[in-house]
Amino acid sequence: MTTEPRLRIAMQKSGRLSEDTQKLLKRCGLKLNVSDRRLLAHVSNMPIDIMRVRSSDIPGLVMDGVCDLGIVGDNTLEEAALERQLMEQSHSYVKTTGLNFGGCRLSIAMPEEFNYQGIKSLDGLRFATTYPQLLNRFARNNGINVEFCLLKGSVEVAPRVGLSDGICDLVSTGATLEANGLKEVEVIFKSTASLIQNPAVLEPSKQKILDTLLPRIQGVMKAKE
Ligand code: ATP
Repeated sequence: MTTEPRLRIAMQKSGRLSEDTQKLLKRCGLKLNVSDRRLLAHVSNMPIDIMRVRSSDIPGLVMDGVCDLGIVGDNTLEEAALERQLMEQSHSYVKTTGLNFGGCRLSIAMPEEFNYQGIKSLDGLRFATTYPQLLNRFARNNGINVEFCLLKGSVEVAPRVGLSDGICDLVSTGATLEANGLKEVEVIFKSTASLIQNPAVLEPSKQKILDTLLPRIQGVMKAKE
């Protein structure tokens, strides 16, 4: 018995992108049963499986070809691509389409009282961040040296407890920064969610599924504008 190939798409299991991603897939007509315990959700009316994982695992799963496609924030994607390039791991992908949700920016923020006089005033300082590669690239491109300490969460608290001089973190409204006595001084990366795919040519039957899905995604995006 031959089984029909199924297109495998990685998405965030839970977090800021998961609800919008699920909504998008449902609006595209995909009938999926997402129960919390099942990490591989079967789409019942199309040959598609949805793999639900941590955001930071999505770029690698697509770049290594474990998943054909993934829906992930550009920030996570770019950070992973830079890190994997450094580690000499596969780091190529194709951005199939940008998506109009998950908008945020990666910014440098300093304590309110910091006397900011342009990028050079950040030279030699230490930053708490989840995005060391993007921060390093920004520093390199601007001719400054920075140190970083890696934090996966609660980054905003680092300057107040003496862990760092400033932070490099995701911002959408700026309310969290303000609540923690920080001011945004430089935007270093702007991000939205994207649909990405492995750069290898898809086998024809999977390409056919994508050819059905992609116009639907674009239609849903257009209707939301
Ligand atoms: P995971 O917990 O799945 O490993 P994560 O820690 O990045 O991933 P979330 O905080 O849910 O999880 O963020 C997921 C993505 O949502 C971010 O990578 C970013 O692309 C997007 N996003 C949009 N607005 C914000 C924001 N204000 N703060 C953080 N992320 C945001």
